[in-house]
Amino acid sequence: MTQALENLLHEERIFPPSEDFTAQANARPGIHEEAADDFEAFWKKQAMDRITWFTEPTMVLDDSDPPFFKWFEDGKLNLSYNCLDRHLQDHGDQVAYHWVGEPGDTRTISYSDLAGEVNRFANGLKRLGLEKGDRVAIYMGMIPELPVAMLACARLGLVHSVVFGGFSADALSSRILDADARLVITQDGAWRGGNVVPLKENTDKALQRTPDVSHVVVVERTDQGVEMTDGRDIWYHDLVEGQSDECEPEILDAEHPLYILYTSGTTGKPKGIVHTQGGYLTGVATTHSLVFDVKPDSDVYWCAADIGWVTGHSYIVYGPLANRTTSVMYEGAPNHPGYHRLWQIIEEYGVTIFYTAPTAIRSFMKWGDEHVDKHDLSSLRVIGTVGEPINPEAWMWYHEHVGGGDCPVVDTWWQTETGGIMITPLPGVVPTKPGSATIPFPGIFADVVDDDGNSVPLGGGGYLVLTKPWPSMARTIYGDDDRYVDTYWSRFPGRYFPGDGCKRDEDGYYWLLGRVDDIMLVSGHNISTTEVESALVSHPAVAEAAVVGRKDELTGQAIAAFVTLRGTATGDEDLLAELRNHVADVLGPIAKPQSIVFTDDLPKTRSGKIMRRLLKDISEHRQLGDVTTLANAEIVAEIAEKAKGPGED
Ligand code: ATP
Ligand code: MG
Repeated sequence: MTQALENLLHEERIFPPSEDFTAQANARPGIHEEAADDFEAFWKKQAMDRITWFTEPTMVLDDSDPPFFKWFEDGKLNLSYNCLDRHLQDHGDQVAYHWVGEPGDTRTISYSDLAGEVNRFANGLKRLGLEKGDRVAIYMGMIPELPVAMLACARLGLVHSVVFGGFSADALSSRILDADARLVITQDGAWRGGNVVPLKENTDKALQRTPDVSHVVVVERTDQGVEMTDGRDIWYHDLVEGQSDECEPEILDAEHPLYILYTSGTTGKPKGIVHTQGGYLTGVATTHSLVFDVKPDSDVYWCAADIGWVTGHSYIVYGPLANRTTSVMYEGAPNHPGYHRLWQIIEEYGVTIFYTAPTAIRSFMKWGDEHVDKHDLSSLRVIGTVGEPINPEAWMWYHEHVGGGDCPVVDTWWQTETGGIMITPLPGVVPTKPGSATIPFPGIFADVVDDDGNSVPLGGGGYLVLTKPWPSMARTIYGDDDRYVDTYWSRFPGRYFPGDGCKRDEDGYYWLLGRVDDIMLVSGHNISTTEVESALVSHPAVAEAAVVGRKDELTGQAIAAFVTLRGTATGDEDLLAELRNHVADVLGPIAKPQSIVFTDDLPKTRSGKIMRRLLKDISEHRQLGDVTTLANAEIVAEIAEKAKGPGED
């Protein structure tokens, strides 16, 4: 029998927390053990300490109908009250968001400004006749009215479904239909890389297929002039005008749905993940405080994700606001008007905590060190990543060039379905290793198992599973309980299966190895995409790499690699041979790519993740699968053309 997943890559570097950091950290040593002793008591304490309840829960976990778990079921609360009202008396003037527009305009929004705006808008929504439980689609760019719209929904018990502003009219209409949304909130246009993305125009197209949408609220942002349909469309500024800045929050059950969010579609048709008010808020407030070590009175925190993804929901909106954080929110592209943009913002606002994605970090590396090195980033004290496995070399680059060599790097593994961070270092407590998300968060329980569901001993690889429920877990896939059970709970009964491969080293550290669907079977060895990619990225000429297993007569599958180079390197025959040998040196001859194609870019989802299944289709000369969530369609044809060329041997 073959191993579930080989362990090929060995990383020796380790970074223990500094004494100074540990002395002031929110997370205390021993917290993991304490939570493990009684995880329900741990989560109950978080729920009581971090949330203001209208009615305190007496129940913690209801596991009578697995996998449909409930948390804090008899508690009553309102999430917008927790994010706004309770901060106002003593901290109304504190900045909630330093907002930076792409063209250079800025807005400073205090907690009382934000509360006033949310209440006015919530009153406006009531005027439109929306009722508790109705679904609202939000299709916007990164402007302050986006969190305002989400919080106004939460205040009234409306269920929002934010659709990423980079999606097309088709993607929007299918999500509106799936959630049966009654209202769409959008804007005339959004700034992106100096261009206007015509959100209202896209919405109009989408609505040709969605007869049940009765109203569209439109925020004015780019002023290019849009068509407004009488009786259906209304300007945001007209709707809020004259509305009271007081609106009583609905008193909601802990299990009342807060939102639906579609997964990013890396593996196929997106799933409408449902999250709740009470458990979700407990999870995101706890993880936000302990993982980022946020100090509400002094930190300037910046999660540079898009609110259209779960990272933005949990760590730009709900977690930070519940914890009374001062955040930066940036509207536009990271390279507009130049490669300095993000670093200039960090310098200008004195950002202390920064959270981004490996895909962004690899772009920074590709653009060249000089852009980041020119800026004074010494205000930073914690830096984080999420979204994909981070290659050890990209981790080191981030640590040195952005973190200045002395910030803890938190590599956080989680997914839309988990609501909040699950496997992560706690800065000040957990020593880090480049490329490892380290260990499960306190109160979270994981394992790595083989095909038969048996725990794999330390040092081996297999399938990641989560063995106990947690408060911020998804409750279902909207309208499709069966798919929820099938996708996550049937592969290993009684355990949650996220779909990711993983190994554990001798210290029990978790190393995420990419999607199990992507695992390659080469001459009887199960090889992870992540390890081969990391080996390629550890060569100084390589910025980014994707590998897939291509059908092969001799070996079952052969490794096909696609590589993007750094700065001035050129992809010629010499480099090709060198890279193949480099991988063989680092991982062993079994992992040597059979072919390498050099390309300027890789096919990515709109959330920036590499879509390996398309590269696999290309490698096996097949019709391409679902491409609706693809960001850069043009590169696929280009790569397909090259894949036929001399790079293949
Ligand atoms: P779909 O489920 O529709 O294919 P998706 O899985 O890309 O989309 P998300 O929920 O945004 O949608 O992404 C979660 C996934 O991202 C995880 O399952 C994992 O594969 C990957 N991921 C996120 N963070 C990390 C991390 N720190 N290390 C390794 N992988 C990560
Ligand atoms: Mg997923």
